[in-house]
Parts: sequence; structure tokens; C-alpha cells
Amino acid sequence: MQPSSSAPNVRFVTTTASGPAPLLGERRTVAQQLVLKVFLLVPFAALIAAVPLAWGWGLSWLDIVLAVSMYVIATLGVTVGYHRYFTHGAFKANRPVRIALGIAGSFAVQGSVIFWVASHRRHHAYADREGDPHSPWLFGTSPGALLKGFWHAHMGWMFSRDVTNYERFAPDLLRDDDLRVVSKLFGVWTAASLALPALLGGLISWSWWGALTAFFWAGLVRVAFLHHVTWSVNSVCHMIGSRPFASRDRAANFWPLAILSMGESWHNSHHADPTCARHGVLRGQIDISARTIWIFEKLGWAWDVRWPTAERLARRRTN
Ligand SMILES: [Zn+2]
Ligand SMILES: [Zn+2]
Repeated sequence: MQPSSSAPNVRFVTTTASGPAPLLGERRTVAQQLVLKVFLLVPFAALIAAVPLAWGWGLSWLDIVLAVSMYVIATLGVTVGYHRYFTHGAFKANRPVRIALGIAGSFAVQGSVIFWVASHRRHHAYADREGDPHSPWLFGTSPGALLKGFWHAHMGWMFSRDVTNYERFAPDLLRDDDLRVVSKLFGVWTAASLALPALLGGLISWSWWGALTAFFWAGLVRVAFLHHVTWSVNSVCHMIGSRPFASRDRAANFWPLAILSMGESWHNSHHADPTCARHGVLRGQIDISARTIWIFEKLGWAWDVRWPTAERLARRRTN
């Protein structure tokens, strides 16, 4: 386990009318930390409590298998595809793999691949400074400002009507005919992401009830669950955790989310070396997405993979 809430590596400055002022103020109190954790954990606990209540009449093993399968496909579509491949170019892939990753990522219902990549590249370009689409640090460091910041970073930013400029942040994707089509069909992939488990649940159980429960658990609940895991990387992983590497922002490694996020919660390492195919670069840091890319490499589906090197890691190490 990593020590949590270590001090930031760099004091960030933002320009004000009177000149640069430090962005970071007082550290959060234990009470504030507690509020943050309650907001995160109670809804999850409620969801888990619903499982035994529904077991036997509204939830079956089939629903669970379908939900986990859809979760794995959609999550890897986002982490391996949308994030490490399309946004950061951590490896090269052929056309069928590229299209498959674009579609699998769309199954997570987090926006089209071009929208996601443009927003995320902007996040890295302005991480935790003005211009970052989803930093929790944009409103200040008082308890109220942090709650507002957490909400904004977690999901509030998506309700803004401003959309990142695709021409500026994703010109390479716009030039790719396949990806323009995959992006344009985002509504179709969303419908498929919800309809597929319903179809399979209905066919395998041979009942309308089976279709309905699969739609609920493997469709809706799975999408909502995955949303919160991904959003937590934007919110929690820019607030809480350890920072073993130097990065220009507040990105942190938050170990409790490593498995569910499939390696994406090693977010400090990622911001320190964004194009690296592996985010969990330290001993014992499980990174399922990196392992998936490794399998792709063995299968010949991925090449020129940017694996971490000891020399690059040492240069960015802060302790
Ligand atoms: Zn980040
Ligand atoms: Zn990134």
C-alpha cells in the first residue's frame, strides 16, 4: 500500500491580476476527507445491498456473467483503446484492431472516440490549471470549493455546453475515415451496448424476464458502475493518493481503484509519462490494461509498444 495524501511535488501557480499566486492552499482536513469518501462509498454500498434483495427473482448468475463480460470489454475499450492507444499513441495497431477498439470503447457510453480523445488531450495539456476540462482544483481549496470541484471533476463538467475543439486536439482522428464513421455511429454503439446483454439474457434464459434483468444489470447498472470508476480517475485520482513521480499537476496513484479501473488509477505515473503503455510501473502495481496490450503484442495485434524504461522512470522519480 502506498502512503496517501503525500505532499505535491510542485506548487502550481496561476496568474491573477496581481501576478502569479500559488494555486494550492491549506491541506484538506480529516473531516473533509471523510465527506469525500462517504459520497463515494455510500451509493456503491447501496448498489451492493440491492444484490441480495434481488437475488433469486431479479438477478441471476447469467446476469452477473453478462455484466462482468460487458464491463471488461467496455473498460478495456476505454483504457487500452480510447486512452492509451488513441489519445496517447502508446502502441501501434492495424486497422481491424483500431476499429474494434473504437467500438469497444463506445460500449462504455462515455462519448464518441473523437470527443473522448479531444477532451482527454486537453486535460493533459492544462492538467489542474485553467483550461483543464475536469480538474477538481479550479474553484479553490475551501471545503465548499473542494466539494464543488469534486462534483465538477467527477461528472459536472460533462453538463457544460462547451465542447473541446476537435480540430485542435484530435486532428489525427478527424483525418481517419474509419474513426470518423465509428464516432458518428456512437448512438448505434450505445444502443448495442444496452441491447446486446438483453438479447443474450433473453436467448440464453429463453424468457422475456431474463432479457429484462440482463438489460438492467448488464446494461444499465454496468454502464453506471463503469461511469463512476472512470470519473473517479478524474476526480479522486487528482485529489487523493501517493505521488512517487514528478508531474506538473495533482495527479495521484490511488491503489483501491487499480483493479476496477484496470490500471488507470496509477494516475500519477501516467501524468508523469503519458505515452507509456504501462501505468502501474512500480513493483506490485497491477495493471490489467498493460497486460492486455502485452497480449496484443504477443498476438501481433500491437507493435512499437512504449514500455517503461528504468532510465526514464529514474529521471521522474521524486523519492
Ligand atoms: Zn488526469
Ligand atoms: Zn491520459
